[in-house]
Amino acid sequence: MSTLLLHGRAFVRGAIEPDTLVTIRDGVLHVEQSAHPPAQAQHIAGIIAPGFIDVHVHGGDGADFMDADEHANERILRFHAKHGTTAVAATTLSGSPDDLEKAVDAIARSAHTREEGAEICAVHLEGPYINRERAGAQDPASIRRPDLQEVEALLAHAPEMKWLMTIAPEIEGARALIESYRNRITFSIGHTAADYAQAVAALEWGASHFTHLFNAMNGLHHREPGAVGAALTSASATAELIADGIHVHPAVLRLATQAMPHRIALVTDAMRACGLADGVYKLYRHDVTVQNGAARLCDGSLAGSLLTMERAVQTMVEQAGLPVEAVLPLATEVPARLLGIADRKGKLAEGYDADVIVLTPGLEVERVFVRGRELR
Ligand SMILES: [Zn+2]
Repeated sequence: MSTLLLHGRAFVRGAIEPDTLVTIRDGVLHVEQSAHPPAQAQHIAGIIAPGFIDVHVHGGDGADFMDADEHANERILRFHAKHGTTAVAATTLSGSPDDLEKAVDAIARSAHTREEGAEICAVHLEGPYINRERAGAQDPASIRRPDLQEVEALLAHAPEMKWLMTIAPEIEGARALIESYRNRITFSIGHTAADYAQAVAALEWGASHFTHLFNAMNGLHHREPGAVGAALTSASATAELIADGIHVHPAVLRLATQAMPHRIALVTDAMRACGLADGVYKLYRHDVTVQNGAARLCDGSLAGSLLTMERAVQTMVEQAGLPVEAVLPLATEVPARLLGIADRKGKLAEGYDADVIVLTPGLEVERVFVRGRELR
């Protein structure tokens, strides 16, 4: 039985509390206040926090979940774990039925046989049932109408996994799909031309999340509130923000977070080139040019990001000007809740999975534990 004790300031119950003793034993957490920790406890100078949870990540370190390869998946999971992510929703792109099936199959295998790195807790199908007009970097030829049989077949490849699906509610067949699978899949409004009324209707059908709020959807106009307006005024829907300071202006990151308390999930939407040098990279069938911190198609539109969760948290604090206590839940508790894993992840709490990170005072990730095992 291996036991590790960390003592210092820790993010618990929504605040950074001093004199917290975090015990990691057999992959599980025990958390208590203690001014006099045992001698074997390690003193932590920074902040002990729950591991980050990224519900929208395609790749990193040269690999992409669409590669449908366990070694590629391992690279992604290890790369993002180094930046503080301890759990992910492995995210696919609009692909051919065959390519999607292969990708989901490899994700399911990686979730079982994983080595070191972030844990796969969910599959996020970003497309293919989206609006071609708002495709962004998604392959237009792979975008199609909802197909319940295809969905059923994909679910069967990873039956024990949580599922998220980005869908454009205005396309034909979207309503039937959402209403049929709302208890099995978390539907996320995205890559959509939906207006306010259409987005509100989709929430009534059972959608409950918004994919990269502001990007690839109708923004907020005072006479046309758009999908963004539906997210802001919803009582319970959650929404993703790509907090790299490029996809969404820092002022709008701040505004959305203040308008949607406990409902924002920070995501990376990271693609293959994340962590690598500038150059030309593949995003499924597209060539993407990486330069000056952005990944773009040849027409200049953004194609995923080069973001890590570590950097996203820093951006929210340093550029959006939010207090760190307000930002950490957006990378931990909110994503855990929307994935349906908040009973064991997203918090430093008694009996929870020992997914723990240590941040420096400058919010750099210093140490990472996934289910109690420290990443080397
Ligand atoms: Zn994406």
